[in-house]
Amino acid sequence: MGAEIRGEMNIWQRLSIPTTTPEETLKKALDFFRPKSLSALRVPDPSYKIQAMGIASFGPIDLRKDSPTYGNITTTPKPGWAYTDLVTPIRDGFGIPVGFDTDVNGAALGEQGYGAGKGLTSLVYFTVGTGIGGGALVNGEPIHGLVHTEMGHFPVERHPDDKYEGICAYHKDCLEGLATGPSIQARWGAPGSQLPVDHAAWEMEAYYLAQAVCDVVYALSPQRIIMGGGVMHQAHLFPLIRQKTLKRLNGYVQSPVILKHIDTVIVPPGLGDDAGIMGALELARRAAEESK
Ligand code: ZN
Repeated sequence: MGAEIRGEMNIWQRLSIPTTTPEETLKKALDFFRPKSLSALRVPDPSYKIQAMGIASFGPIDLRKDSPTYGNITTTPKPGWAYTDLVTPIRDGFGIPVGFDTDVNGAALGEQGYGAGKGLTSLVYFTVGTGIGGGALVNGEPIHGLVHTEMGHFPVERHPDDKYEGICAYHKDCLEGLATGPSIQARWGAPGSQLPVDHAAWEMEAYYLAQAVCDVVYALSPQRIIMGGGVMHQAHLFPLIRQKTLKRLNGYVQSPVILKHIDTVIVPPGLGDDAGIMGALELARRAAEESK
């Protein structure tokens, strides 16, 4: 869990907290924003006050504002975190509006406002790391339906050479089950960061990720697909994913941008690993606007 303060969208200070129990983790996060901590910051105006906060959380979370468990992490397998209320302690503790969304919807908003999605109304943000998730903006807003999107669990067509059973606790060999960082490590016996660029792992990884890209191209027709997270630090994956996406689409989607400039459609985050944090800030900005 990270906590951060910015003014005018500038980073003033950041804190990274290991995710332990909800009580301990949330207490450390909230303490960071108490006046004593704030007084130690190099903010330009000493009368600076927190006006709103934003939370871009791992999921699944309850986003339905009329639900009794709004603001909760719901059925996570993370020990102790199921039905942890993230919003109420902050809203009541600080008496401020709180914006709340998934980490990936947040990252999509961050990239739209300040990164690789500037000026776009329709984009998808994938994170590929210890898990896989996808957030989507349609007409400039994150998709909220019954709950929220779960693009990490798309069913995928298995690679012909892949004998690994898959790591997803719910589906075994869904996208997350076969393409997440821990599945790379389990399949090949070493983390992706230690595998050479010509290792067979990357062709297989791109094979799975390109399927997810095709799914969102068909379902949402996004103007851009931004791919971040630890696994995507392997920049050589991008050309492989683009190439496999074009092959799978097979000329069906008649967009000149896709057909001729796919390198501008499937891109790394403009904000790097700060996409989620900037998304949380954007959620805070929006919450402050709405409360006016
Ligand atoms: Zn799954």
